[in-house]
Amino acid sequence: MRIVVKVGTSTLAHPTGRLNIRRVEALVKVLSDLKNAGSQLVLVSSGAIGMGVGKLNLPGRPADMPTKQAAAAVGQCELMYTYDKLFAGYNHTVAQLLLTAEDVNFPQRRQNFENAVHRLLELNALPIVNENDAVATDEVGVSTTIGENDTLSAIVARCVGADLLILLSDIDGLYTADPRKDGGAKLIPEVREITPELRALAGSPGSALGTGGMATKLNAAEIAMACGCDMVIANGQRPELLYDVAEGKHTGTRFIGRRDRI
Ligand code: GLU
Repeated sequence: MRIVVKVGTSTLAHPTGRLNIRRVEALVKVLSDLKNAGSQLVLVSSGAIGMGVGKLNLPGRPADMPTKQAAAAVGQCELMYTYDKLFAGYNHTVAQLLLTAEDVNFPQRRQNFENAVHRLLELNALPIVNENDAVATDEVGVSTTIGENDTLSAIVARCVGADLLILLSDIDGLYTADPRKDGGAKLIPEVREITPELRALAGSPGSALGTGGMATKLNAAEIAMACGCDMVIANGQRPELLYDVAEGKHTGTRFIGRRDRI
């Protein structure tokens, strides 16, 4: 089973921007165990900018592009240092792949990326992917960014032919309403089609259903489902949920990939 797991900054870091050590240690332990059990894993990890903010003691998430780039450059090192150290404790070798939109939009460059990931998987390494935020900038007219890692992780899942994409979020899954505001909100366990009604439910990024940014998650689901890959949104506060998700047990919200595409 080939699984792409995406973790967001809210899972990895405290609001201070400093590493959530307990959380990351638990996550690395479960991922190592899944790998030991025979799954092929690719990790798409955010956290570069957030951790750079912490390491540089910046007052908050930078608004200007050069400071964001600087924070990403510092934080990406910190992120990989942490993963390398923790995964090495379980005898796993990590590899860093940093992408811009151009790397996945141009067929030849995408092929290069796919070749690298496939070879890394053959070598039993764990590819860890992020957007190259130190150089991918979003100026008017010359955008080279994908912009967020929900979409990036779905693109990666498509490139590597994943069976399953798991988005670890700060929310249990997709709800019928915002669970933070509406006590009657119900978790939607399974989605077979992204309907306009679902889109309306998700709202705009970071709004209706909270910081999880459901709109980008639905975009990711659409990309994954179209290439026959299931996608699950699960709560990253409990990394051990990954065991259940990998076994196909009901956890969070599962988007069913189109079987005619397999
Ligand atoms: N690439 C960004 C980072 O590492 C995160 C983007 C996202 O959270 O979606 O900080």
